[in-house]
Amino acid sequence: MSGNPLGNNGPTAGNSPPNAASSPLSSVGNGGGGPKSRMVPLGGGGVGGGLTLGGNGVGSASVGSNGSVSGNGSVVGGAAAAVAVGGAGVNVVSNVPLQNVPPQNSSANQDLASLFECPVCFDYVLPPILQCHAGHLVCSSCRPKLTCCPTCRGQLGGNIRNLAMEKVASTVMFPCRYQSSGCGTSLLHTEKLDHEETCEFRPYSCPCPGASCKWQGSLEQVMSHLMQVHKSITTLQGEDIVFLATDINLPGAVDWVMMQSCFGHHFMLVLEKQEKFDGHQQFFAIVQLIGTRKQAENFAYRLELNGHRRRLTWEATPRSIHEGVSSAILNSDCLVFDTSIAQLFADNGNLGINVTISMC
Ligand SMILES: [Zn+2]
Ligand SMILES: [Zn+2]
Ligand SMILES: [Zn+2]
Ligand SMILES: [Zn+2]
Repeated sequence: MSGNPLGNNGPTAGNSPPNAASSPLSSVGNGGGGPKSRMVPLGGGGVGGGLTLGGNGVGSASVGSNGSVSGNGSVVGGAAAAVAVGGAGVNVVSNVPLQNVPPQNSSANQDLASLFECPVCFDYVLPPILQCHAGHLVCSSCRPKLTCCPTCRGQLGGNIRNLAMEKVASTVMFPCRYQSSGCGTSLLHTEKLDHEETCEFRPYSCPCPGASCKWQGSLEQVMSHLMQVHKSITTLQGEDIVFLATDINLPGAVDWVMMQSCFGHHFMLVLEKQEKFDGHQQFFAIVQLIGTRKQAENFAYRLELNGHRRRLTWEATPRSIHEGVSSAILNSDCLVFDTSIAQLFADNGNLGINVTISMC
């Protein structure tokens, strides 16, 4: 390997790994993502830029230094950081007019919906609806935890369906679970879960990978949470930076995280190493926007590994932190490579990933 894994893109060499685009500079623009890539047209963005250790980016030289290892062995960025991260740029739609309120009878509908409230968790009891011997309802998530009916203390035993209530339930408009956070949507129970999954009033979870942080809050609070609780995450300014993941040979599952801010937004870069059952390791690299799904659609990101006459590129729309990266990683909807590819591009156990954000 040459000393500088990020430079050096000569003419095509043979013998490139299956997934790697080992190409002359001019053809990089359309770099090859895997079969599931959502290729996004990138606005003209300078190809050359991706290759140079662009001004800003290498400030991350300091990033190399000390990956602090926390909890489950996640390496979180380097020590450098301390780049001021303004809270700017994150807009949230508030005061959204109520949508989808059932046209009439809405108070009668509310009365009906309230009949379906679970006496334990106050969530709605939705089909299949089970009742106690005396006819009281309890929701399906509470029921397995109960030994008797919470209303009459009678037995819950047996699975007594209440088909009439199930029929009624299918005609009632239930308010979204995030009504108290401001969502005015009411829906049929069959549509409720899907809506809630993407409801813009659903609280945001901490975008750091791994399940260690349980924080939830509004979009506006995410950056201050990250700055207060995840202080070690480095932030780099600029559209074109180098994310240097140190010690990629650390055993076990490891996450590397870095923030990139540009276009008035903050992006979180995640590199995750997973160890499969047979000791086979895979790396997943992905970018998520600290913003809504709608905002994320305005951007594209490109990840590039550059090595000795080799280049591996992935381009896609960033995820919103509202949806998170775990399902994308599960579906390989990101830059995926294995240990041998990582070794091709690594230098002394450190892997540089060029990250370019563009607007589209
Ligand atoms: Zn319940
Ligand atoms: Zn009962
Ligand atoms: Zn909602
Ligand atoms: Zn957190």
